[in-house]
Amino acid sequence: MRRRPKRGKTVLLCPKCGSVRVSLIAGSILGQVYHCQKCDYQGSLVFETDVADDGTPISQG
Ligand SMILES: [Zn+2]
Repeated sequence: MRRRPKRGKTVLLCPKCGSVRVSLIAGSILGQVYHCQKCDYQGSLVFETDVADDGTPISQG
């Protein structure tokens, strides 16, 4: 996975429902595990997107 240079704040997006209410719950042998508070998704795959100064996620298309 390619990492973009971080210019500002970023947020994590749930790959299932697109919610930003994703938090890191554990680091394990499999890597980091995230939990979505909205749809209860759990997994190591999350999207990351830039946010504007006011915290609004910027759509990457
Ligand atoms: Zn979700």
